[in-house]
Amino acid sequence: MSRIAKELELIKGSIPGSVTLVAVSKTKPLELLKEAYAAGQRHFGENRVQELEEKYNALPKDICWHMIGHLQSKKVKTIAPFVHLIHGVDSFKLLAEINKQALKNNRTIDCLLQFFIAQEETKFGFDLEEALEMLGSDEFAALKNIRLVGIMGMATFTDDTDQIRTEFKTLASYFDQLKSTHFENVASFKEISMGMSGDYAIAIEEGSTMVRIGSAIFGGR
Ligand SMILES: *Cc1c(COP(=O)(O)O)cnc(C)c1O
Repeated sequence: MSRIAKELELIKGSIPGSVTLVAVSKTKPLELLKEAYAAGQRHFGENRVQELEEKYNALPKDICWHMIGHLQSKKVKTIAPFVHLIHGVDSFKLLAEINKQALKNNRTIDCLLQFFIAQEETKFGFDLEEALEMLGSDEFAALKNIRLVGIMGMATFTDDTDQIRTEFKTLASYFDQLKSTHFENVASFKEISMGMSGDYAIAIEEGSTMVRIGSAIFGGR
């Protein structure tokens, strides 16, 4: 069994079967992604459009590709034909562009709204008020080729597990508020994408449905 297969088995053994494991393969060579694929992994996450496109072209077509990084509007068209889920939607402008490119490709693209939960200046995302305002707008209602399936966030990079837990609790509470105000009868709005190599156990305790794990599978970057 390859080292990557072993790591995947360990991680899968420690998370509930209902939680989707996205293997974050950014910066990693194809050969390592092929090892993960051979071990049965089908969800992969990348944070750069060009790298995502190259890997999509080179690897089997039954892979579900997750765009997990900050996405610029002008780059949406590159991934619109094939992307499975866009995690980092942080503005209406971006959502409108995804809708436009999805329409051109005659498909609906699933998206997560990214929320700002960390005590860091560098992390992108909505705050709750902005998101609620957008969801209530006519402009949002007019977007027929995107489907919001949940939300995503990143905790502060810190050893303080209490702080991480508090941030994940905040994200889960945002999900609950969005669900009850705008998606009450929408079964597909169900994902909370939170948790990375260092904090996924806490994230799952706080309600994560999707963890994005890179270095614990593929080694450090
Ligand atoms: C890189 C990255 C991850 C994975 O980080 P690891 O610590 O390697 O598990 C998860 N989410 C996002 C948004 C990332 O950019």
